[in-house]
Amino acid sequence: MDNIENIKIFWDKIIDGLNQVLQKEIVNTWFGVLTPVQLNDHKLILEAPNQFFIEWISQYYLDYLRAVIEKLNLNNLQIEFQVKKEATSTNRPEFISTNIGPVNESRLSPRYTFDNFIVGESNRLCYAAAKAVADAPARAYNPLFIYGGVGLGKTHLLHAIGNYVKRKYPHLKVYYTPAEEMFLNLIQSIQDRNPSSFNNKYRNLDLLLLDDIHYLKGKERLQEDVFHLFNHLHMMGKQIVFTSDRPPREIPTLEERLVSRLLSGMVCDLKPPDIETRIAILNNKAKQENIKIGPDVIFFIAENIKTNIRELEGALIRLSGYASLTNTPITIEIAKQVLSDLFTHKPLPKPMKILELVASYYNVTIEQLQSKERTQNLALARQVAMYFLRSVGGLSLKEIGAYLGGKDHSTVIHAIEKITELKKQNEKISKDLEQIALLINGE
Ligand code: ADP
Ligand code: MG
Repeated sequence: MDNIENIKIFWDKIIDGLNQVLQKEIVNTWFGVLTPVQLNDHKLILEAPNQFFIEWISQYYLDYLRAVIEKLNLNNLQIEFQVKKEATSTNRPEFISTNIGPVNESRLSPRYTFDNFIVGESNRLCYAAAKAVADAPARAYNPLFIYGGVGLGKTHLLHAIGNYVKRKYPHLKVYYTPAEEMFLNLIQSIQDRNPSSFNNKYRNLDLLLLDDIHYLKGKERLQEDVFHLFNHLHMMGKQIVFTSDRPPREIPTLEERLVSRLLSGMVCDLKPPDIETRIAILNNKAKQENIKIGPDVIFFIAENIKTNIRELEGALIRLSGYASLTNTPITIEIAKQVLSDLFTHKPLPKPMKILELVASYYNVTIEQLQSKERTQNLALARQVAMYFLRSVGGLSLKEIGAYLGGKDHSTVIHAIEKITELKKQNEKISKDLEQIALLINGE
């Protein structure tokens, strides 16, 4: 399969596949500029205009590319990127060459908006701050500094601000850039002995969205330039929004005057999402991507992936890719299999251990749980046990029935639904469930 014609046909198929799962502009922007240069049984090599494309695609779209390739029955195909030769040797001061076409000049991805950002307790404050800044740039909080762990929505919020501002204030000059790219620009301007190319690029913006500034750590020259740039923009009444994986004070080697500058506006942090938010995010994503998946599997994924929304979404995409490839519906059993590597940090607790913990929490015995006895306390304990066997243990309805002395599957469904409802409505039970979950997951 190595001649150019075949590669082209293959690549067209991939683009078709991507067009079905991503918006057309995105496919155009990020994949339209790639050239497939080699394809054999185990490797596909793609050429990109520069390193930035490679990183961007790897970070945001690799899972999609993989899923599409898997759909073509090529599970083991490795994907490799390389930078196009002539693009690196021409000394272009502009990091992104201007002939790429559909890349919009603000560098905003239309994919990330406020509308598709799910708000929960964990991100409410940042969301509100971001929205306030977008509504009135440079008049609400300036700078806005958003920090939080990997995959919690920092980049999403930055683009959301940008997209919103572009719509509401089309005349404003908005620019999104990862700090790393700004750094490469700086290097370029130094190499070209043209420092003003760096300054000109950023100094006439109305809104600068600077992502991942923890990258400034240890880069004094860049810090210096960011500091001056920031002062300049601030003085001119322009807005800056920063993101980082930690608060300003915890970025080592960040100059004190830059730290205090960063602290002079509004600082907010994104926390890992709670279970309701995780479920809402999964549901939203499934709807967006047209993935058919039952609430039980959604719940199962949400129970097991807790700290990274990118992983949460990745799990869903991977599952749906697998399901459509094998032409099977998405079930908990399949989810367990396909996502096992994401769950490995913690092996699923054994069903008997779950029963034991629930029984002792409610002061009953495992035998009583499995019996037909029905005092109020016992009935509740039994339903709670079923709920955890499903959500944390990942057992099928049938298995759960069997563990509880041969209950049929409608009884199990009823129990799980009932507890899920009670969890929302009854504070005492919701606290109990949290306690038990800690016992089961913890030690
Ligand atoms: P970070 O920049 O903090 O590492 P991202 O902004 O790239 O994280 O988010 C990772 C993925 O999770 C993205 O696909 C993003 O759309 C999604 N995501 C994060 N937070 C939310 C949210 N609250 N609602 C919907 N999707 C979210
Ligand atoms: Mg990010």
